[in-house]
Amino acid sequence: RIVNFIERGVPISEWPADFFHNEDNIQQHGFLLKQGVEAGSAIEALLDRGIEHILNELEQSGLRGCGGAGFPTVNKWRFCRQIEADAHYVVCNADEGEPGTFKDRVLLNNYADQVIEGMTLCGRIIGASQGFIYLRGEYLFLRQKLQQIIDQRRQNNWLGQAIAGVEGFDFDIEIRMGAGAYICGEESALLESLEGKRGVPRIRPPFPVTHGYLDKPTVINNVETFASAAKIALAGASSYNQVGTEDSPGSRLLSISGDCARPGIYEYPFGTTIKQILIDCGASHTRCVQVGGPSGALVANTDFQRQISFEDLPTGGSFMIFNDSRDPLAIATNFAHFFAHESCGFCTPCRVGTTLVKNRLDKVVKGLGSENDLAELKKLSHLVQHYSHCGLGQTATNPVMDSLTHFPEHYQAKVKDQPFTPAIDLEQALQ
Ligand code: SF4
Repeated sequence: RIVNFIERGVPISEWPADFFHNEDNIQQHGFLLKQGVEAGSAIEALLDRGIEHILNELEQSGLRGCGGAGFPTVNKWRFCRQIEADAHYVVCNADEGEPGTFKDRVLLNNYADQVIEGMTLCGRIIGASQGFIYLRGEYLFLRQKLQQIIDQRRQNNWLGQAIAGVEGFDFDIEIRMGAGAYICGEESALLESLEGKRGVPRIRPPFPVTHGYLDKPTVINNVETFASAAKIALAGASSYNQVGTEDSPGSRLLSISGDCARPGIYEYPFGTTIKQILIDCGASHTRCVQVGGPSGALVANTDFQRQISFEDLPTGGSFMIFNDSRDPLAIATNFAHFFAHESCGFCTPCRVGTTLVKNRLDKVVKGLGSENDLAELKKLSHLVQHYSHCGLGQTATNPVMDSLTHFPEHYQAKVKDQPFTPAIDLEQALQ
C-alpha cells in the first residue's frame, strides 16, 4: 500500500491516519512488552531501593535514548539531577512524526501506565514536580484515554502530592498537543512549542538538560525510553542487557511496514540483521529497506547482513520495506516532497535547498532531466546536508544520496538521451 501511494504521487501528509498502524501484530517476544509494569510497581522499587540504586541499574543496563540519537539515559538524568535550580521538568517526546514509525502510538495505547511510571521515576530522581507529555497532533484520539489513566493514577496516589504517602514526592503530568509539525519532534523545537512559541530548533549548546523548558533543567526522553527505564527499575539491569551488542545493549521496538506479509510492531535485540527481520515479517523479493525513516538510511539488498544497532544502523524505530517492483527514484522523490513541506523555514540552506531538490527530482521523474541535473542533485544534497541548522535539514537529502549511490540505474534510465544543460556553480553562487 505504501508504494501505491508513492507511485500515485500522494503526499505523505495525505495518507490515511491508520496507514502505518497495525496493532493486530505485536510480537511480544522481547524485554519491553513481554510483561508490562503495573501501576506503582516501579515507583515502589525506587522507594524501596533508593535513587542511587536505580541510577546504577540504569547505568549498568546501558539504556540509550530511543528517539534515534542514542544518548545514554542515565547520564542525562544524573546531570540534570546535579543542577541546582528552583524548578526541573520532565518531558515525554510523544511527537512521533517520522514516516513509518508507529511504535510510540502502540506504547501509549497499550502500555501508557508504564510510560508514565518511567516519567514519575525520572521526576523523583531529578527533583521535578511537573512533567509533560507532548503528544503528536495526529494522535489527538489518544488524549482522552491518556487523561483517564493520569486521573486514575492521581486517585491512586501514583501522581500528584505526596506520591505513595511520601512527603515531598510531588509529581504531576499534563498533556500538551502538538499541531502536526514534524520539526517539533526535534527536542529544542518541541520545547519552543511547549512554551507556546513557533516550533523552531534552538541553537545548541546550551542543551535542554541545563536550559530546557522555561530555561530550567529538563529531561526530554522518548516514549520508549521512559517505558524501558520503568522496566529496568523494576526488573534490574540484567533483564535488559542480557541481549544486544557490546555498544548497543538491550532491544529496540521496530515499526515494520511496507511489502511484507506481517507488518506490525516487533521487538528485536540490537544486533539483529535486516535479513532476519525480513524473514520474520514475511518479506520477499526485497529491493531495499528504509531504516530509521526518510532521515535514516536506505539499505540495498546487497547489504542485508547489516545490523540494527547504534554502531551500524541506528533507528528511531522505522523499518519500511520495498520490494523489487518499486522504483527507488519514486521513493526518494516522495521523501523529498515530505521534507520540502516539513522544513520549518528558519534557515536558508534547508528552506530553499529542500525545495530545489524536490523540483529537480520532479524534473528527472518526468523524463525532462539530464546528467547535469544528477550532478546538481548531488551538489545540492551536499549543501543542504552540511549547511543546515538542525537535524531535519542535515538528513533531508539522505534518501536522494542513498538512492543515487545504490540505484544509479533508475536515475540513468530517466536521463539518457536528454540534452546536456549547463550547470550553475551553486557554491560559487552562495559565496
Ligand atoms: Fe528549520 Fe530546516 Fe533549518 Fe532545521 S534545517 S532549522 S527544519 S529550516
